[in-house]
Amino acid sequence: MHAVLISGGNVIDGTGSQPQPNTDVLIEGDRIVAVGKNLVVEKSSEREVRRVDATGLTVMPGLIDAHTHITLGEPRTNDELFLHRDPATAAILAAYNVRKVLRAGVTSMFDVDGIFNIGPALRDSIKAGVVEGPTMKSGSYALMTAVGGTAGKLIPDSGTAGYAEVVRNKEETVLAVRRQVKDGADCIKIHVTGSIPTRSGEIQVWTREELKVVCDTAHDLGVRVTAHCRGDKATLDSVMAGVDIIWHASFLGDASLEAIIDKKVPVGPVFTFLANLSEFGHKAGATSSAKSIFAGELENTGAKLRQAYDAGVKLLCGSESGFSMTPYGHWHAREMEVFVKHLGMTPLQAITCGTKDNAVALDEDGETGCIAAGYRADVLVLDGDPSKDISLLGDKSLFRHLFCRGKNIDLSPIEPRAMLRGEQSSGWSDVALTRELAYSK
Ligand SMILES: [Zn+2]
Repeated sequence: MHAVLISGGNVIDGTGSQPQPNTDVLIEGDRIVAVGKNLVVEKSSEREVRRVDATGLTVMPGLIDAHTHITLGEPRTNDELFLHRDPATAAILAAYNVRKVLRAGVTSMFDVDGIFNIGPALRDSIKAGVVEGPTMKSGSYALMTAVGGTAGKLIPDSGTAGYAEVVRNKEETVLAVRRQVKDGADCIKIHVTGSIPTRSGEIQVWTREELKVVCDTAHDLGVRVTAHCRGDKATLDSVMAGVDIIWHASFLGDASLEAIIDKKVPVGPVFTFLANLSEFGHKAGATSSAKSIFAGELENTGAKLRQAYDAGVKLLCGSESGFSMTPYGHWHAREMEVFVKHLGMTPLQAITCGTKDNAVALDEDGETGCIAAGYRADVLVLDGDPSKDISLLGDKSLFRHLFCRGKNIDLSPIEPRAMLRGEQSSGWSDVALTRELAYSK
């Protein structure tokens, strides 16, 4: 068995404790076996000990991303996502993209839903060593009613399209949950709210009774349920129906906040997508008026989520990686930054959200997310102190070593690629060529 001694680093263990200077971390195989000062490690005939000098560096748990969409392939529009993807290409592309996630310091990820049920196969391929990537938990299609999700009329009245699986009644709901479990899903995702072209904002498209059918069926099979909720009542109904993790939880009211606190249901606000659109969207040519949406969500949701956090609710860090505004390998630490900047957390508190608490969300509590004996050897070594400046975790150039399941990861950047044929939608022109335009001076 191989062993690695990471010596003399400033250890942030993920529990929220103060960093421990001049501390050694010993890895054997895929486990951390000892953490302490001046560890003495004997070389024996059975094992080689590799030494990594971490003097002046930070040693911390590998990052965990609790909300990704690894199979979407960074679409710019819903049209690209729903109409320009095929299973074989999407699977190959996901295997390429997941390496970018790993090399951004992410050693575990929760892929909440995706297209063509590729996620579970990718998870198993990573586990078997076929594809290099973080340890993965995976959902399948997101369950929807025919009213839809966030893709308007691209959601069909039945069957699957893009990341959606539409269920029309109780029997179809039970069947879909059971089939997704058979097909390898670690969790079931529900789109509790959705947007339709004729209405502003998102509306609730499931009843509490319908949500309960999903939860009861999944829980009977030992599988958890997560739910996309933009709206107060949607969150309340989801929590009361038994949903295990709430995403977004936008516009919480008093009753839904109380329910979240009462049942201690973890919440992943996934602010990163909106924060990126709002802050940097103009640099990527985004036309959406996300600035006001983000400000509104933060104002309405941030303070309530802070109350939940103070009452002991776990806030999860997810990046929504998979869209053009959240490409793979770039934004996995951004949610921690938002927590510090907008929810008033200390960097150490935010790091705990993005490591130890995220592990709970992945059902990996006690397995990863901490630097302690017995935990899986998911360890990031970087030049800089994120307990002072959380934004450092977004800067891959500072990363010196990464161990994932005890394996030393090559941190050199993935070679850039060209677009695949038919991957992006293209038009004949940006605007209609009227006679006036044609002959204008
Ligand atoms: Zn998402």
